[in-house]
Amino acid sequence: MILPPFAAPIGFKDSLLPPASGETLWFIFSKDQLLIAEDRKTLPFHHNFSLQRTLYLGTLRNKHLFTGEVDSQDKAPSGWLWTSLRLLHTLLDEENYAVAGRALQLIHWDRTNQFCGFCGNITFSRQNERCRECKSCGQLAYPKLMPAIMALVKKDEKILLARSPHFPQNVYSVLAGFVDPGETLEQCVAREVLEEVGIKVKNVRYFGSQPWPFSYSLMVGFTCEWLAGEIKIDSCEIEDAAWFDSFHLPQLPQPLSLAYILIDAQLNRKN
Ligand SMILES: [Zn+2]
Repeated sequence: MILPPFAAPIGFKDSLLPPASGETLWFIFSKDQLLIAEDRKTLPFHHNFSLQRTLYLGTLRNKHLFTGEVDSQDKAPSGWLWTSLRLLHTLLDEENYAVAGRALQLIHWDRTNQFCGFCGNITFSRQNERCRECKSCGQLAYPKLMPAIMALVKKDEKILLARSPHFPQNVYSVLAGFVDPGETLEQCVAREVLEEVGIKVKNVRYFGSQPWPFSYSLMVGFTCEWLAGEIKIDSCEIEDAAWFDSFHLPQLPQPLSLAYILIDAQLNRKN
């Protein structure tokens, strides 16, 4: 699989130590919206905001990359916009898009770990690793990722796609779910498919993975094969599910997502 959107760009170097000088590029967020020029391609080299938090991300192509967050009341300067990252896919170049995804996750982690989750005291950034430390009780808070699986189920020449009530209208996708404590990724695939559509699967095979900044996840994609059962949806999570062949496909998720890449790879393999 080629690198999916949000995979770390080749040549990106993560670092904690900001430079004394050099060319900079800023990824500035207001809530989850990125500051971008009206052309939706250009990021700022500098800014005049009073930032609520700042993190140095590292280097890419000799530029020093910073991220920061403004107060949600701050207006974008003339000629600039606050825009959702989802809307910038294919507009912002791939490398900066990936860094923006990383920045969004790190800003969220920094924002939500200012105080110790155990004793409630203020936390401090560690100098030697990306981690916030409580000096009162020693609790450490590393950036959190919530692993989630995506499962493409195959039966003969068909694939199983489903839609959740919160999907955009008419969109169907592969099944997905967060990994529970104490289960392997493969067990998670089997459990999610059984829970959501009542089907048992076999031959669970790894396909690829993708950082997914919108839910602070690492998406891990699998293919698997139908073993037993008829579709019986869990109506709390799924609105509809059906077997589709490549000639009668529903509307698919955005090409941005691993789900789309997984479906596309499977259909191309058949044709
Ligand atoms: Zn503490």
